[in-house]
Amino acid sequence: MSPTHLSLVRQLSFCAGHRLYGHEGRCAFLHGHNYRVDIEVEAEGGRSAVDDVGRVVDFSLIKKRMLGWLDEHWDHAFLVFEKDESTLAALRVAEPTKYFVMPWNPTAENMARYLLEVVAPHVLSGLGVLARRVSVWETDESCAVATLASPQAPSPVPIGSVVVVDRRA
Ligand SMILES: [Zn+2]
Repeated sequence: MSPTHLSLVRQLSFCAGHRLYGHEGRCAFLHGHNYRVDIEVEAEGGRSAVDDVGRVVDFSLIKKRMLGWLDEHWDHAFLVFEKDESTLAALRVAEPTKYFVMPWNPTAENMARYLLEVVAPHVLSGLGVLARRVSVWETDESCAVATLASPQAPSPVPIGSVVVVDRRA
């Protein structure tokens, strides 16, 4: 048993809109960010496990699975809290529109938690890895970090899906 823990970190970028429901300042306005996500993964088989080539997993698979999901569901979408009725109403009348309803207020913290608990287990299944940590950078200076406390604790939250209405085609 090696004393060394191995993991990979892949950076992923996307753009999205949000607002913080109930925020006391300007974050309550509809606005957006160029987000960066750092996802850290390790082998399910043990924290020093590598494949025959010497990899935890190939970086390209993390990009394909995780960035694929982000592109489809969050990129150029508006992330909206399910209790935020007035923003949901606005998003439903806008055309074209792309939005993603969140079970929690879309703070960087809750986005990191959602990616770690809900999205990563779904998109990384079958690769033999689990996401240990997800950081969501809202600006170059500020990020929120979600860390898996228990390796086998699935979230009770079902994975959501994006709503896209686009009649231009
Ligand atoms: Zn913001």
